[in-house]
Amino acid sequence: MRQNVCILGATGSIGDSTLKVLAQHTAQYTVFAVTGYHRIDKLVEICLTYRPKVVVVPQEKKQEIWQKLQHHNLVDIEILSDEEGLVYIASHADVDIVMAAIVGAAGLLPTLAAVKAGKRVLLANKEALVMSGDIMMQEAEKNNALLLPVDSEHNAIFQCLPHDYNTKNTEISLSQGISQILLTASGGPFLNSSASDLEHVTPAQACKHPNWSMGQKISVDSATLMNKGLELIEACHLFNICESKVTVVVHPQSIIHSMVQYVDGSTLAQMGNPDMCTPIAHALAWPKRIHTSVPALDLFANHHLDFQPPDHQRFPALQLAREAIQAGGIMPTVLNASNEIAVDAFLNGKIKFTDIPKLIDFVLNKIDNVAANSLDIILGHDTLARHTANTYIQSKGQ
Ligand code: NAD
Ligand code: MG
Repeated sequence: MRQNVCILGATGSIGDSTLKVLAQHTAQYTVFAVTGYHRIDKLVEICLTYRPKVVVVPQEKKQEIWQKLQHHNLVDIEILSDEEGLVYIASHADVDIVMAAIVGAAGLLPTLAAVKAGKRVLLANKEALVMSGDIMMQEAEKNNALLLPVDSEHNAIFQCLPHDYNTKNTEISLSQGISQILLTASGGPFLNSSASDLEHVTPAQACKHPNWSMGQKISVDSATLMNKGLELIEACHLFNICESKVTVVVHPQSIIHSMVQYVDGSTLAQMGNPDMCTPIAHALAWPKRIHTSVPALDLFANHHLDFQPPDHQRFPALQLAREAIQAGGIMPTVLNASNEIAVDAFLNGKIKFTDIPKLIDFVLNKIDNVAANSLDIILGHDTLARHTANTYIQSKGQ
């Protein structure tokens, strides 16, 4: 039986890699639904190649994609729109696997819908989990959804954990003999830049990652180290571990994708060339393994594996994330929303690279913490944090 796959965010970088893996395994997987937000021509190309049953676009792009699909004689593809369309396909009865690869908070409701519908959910959209951590994990358990990490670090951690690890009631560190998780970070393009150089960083420089080719937002997050901050929070939820037991290790080569240390002195690492096709294939087929086009690691090819602690002076974003998860409640939602606004403002030339953590710090201090125990509270504080961040940007621009 072929499994039906829904790709939320098919036109993005993770979408690309997912389609690449699926193209190698057409006997096992069918592309059932795809979504895109901006690049309609790319979505039409995907439709031509993979012939999905449903496509989801923003309302204002519906007419455009309809005409283009008609032009190619693709008349049987159903066109849906907006969040309603995304939620519909993510929870569709015919869908077995949902790739959650929309960037940012826009992915929250469709990802949650897939979890509530008990799907195998391949989680790339870390922001959704950062925002809704406890609710998302509770819904996954309640509805027997299989929430599998695609983020390369979390996929690596998952591979290094005992195969039958159980996060249900106790922290994994207590129940499974784990002493700590070592979350690796490449350090981004400015690992060796001075504090004064960081003042003049351009969006183009920030988006040029040394090891990975990714969407703009996550590239900027990698450059500020906020990506590692979001990943720290992601790891705490996925693996039910306290933040004090997650240590960030800068490893510039991105060969080791993360490690798990055990109380007997063992350290298990997952290694591989930096290519998202590997964690995507792993999450798609787990517990089986399937082929990808990623070349095997050649350990004789002059690989040096270097490790160093992160520099919190030059990259304060990571510490802000740690403080947000320590504070708990709504603070991770506020952190995520203000970061999304800050990154967007930086990409549009409204603020400097070094203003990103300052803006987030301002918003975190401005908003009172409350328990994040309902979706309404989470969405309300997401809006409030965005508004607070935008007001700050406007006041500084005058
Ligand atoms: P991207 O910018 O390349 O793609 C984002 C996708 O989301 C696109 O299909 C876009 O059309 C869609 N999208 C954007 N805004 C939307 C909106 N408002 N509503 C609906 N759809 C919208 O990003 P990416 O690099 O593929 O990253 C996607 C997610 O995966 C992010 O959460 C990122 O943190 C995570 N991730 C990416 C990588 C990577 O290597 N690229 C690695 C780990 C995790
Ligand atoms: Mg990652």
